[in-house]
Amino acid sequence: MTAHPRPHSADEMIPCDVCHKEIPLSEAQRFEAQDYVAHFCGLDCYSTWKHRSEALKQQDKDSQR
Ligand SMILES: [Zn+2]
Repeated sequence: MTAHPRPHSADEMIPCDVCHKEIPLSEAQRFEAQDYVAHFCGLDCYSTWKHRSEALKQQDKDSQR
């Protein structure tokens, strides 16, 4: 097995939760939800995600009897 050297392991790349672009963890917009952490490449994606999750929550409520 070959070990992949990771010289910048402190600056890990993570995908944006909305557009899936890879961004350095240190530059990501971070949002901690109840049971997970979401990352975004910028505030635009953050607000997209926020609107989306609020819409989902609304659907949840609507589907509850
Ligand atoms: Zn994004």
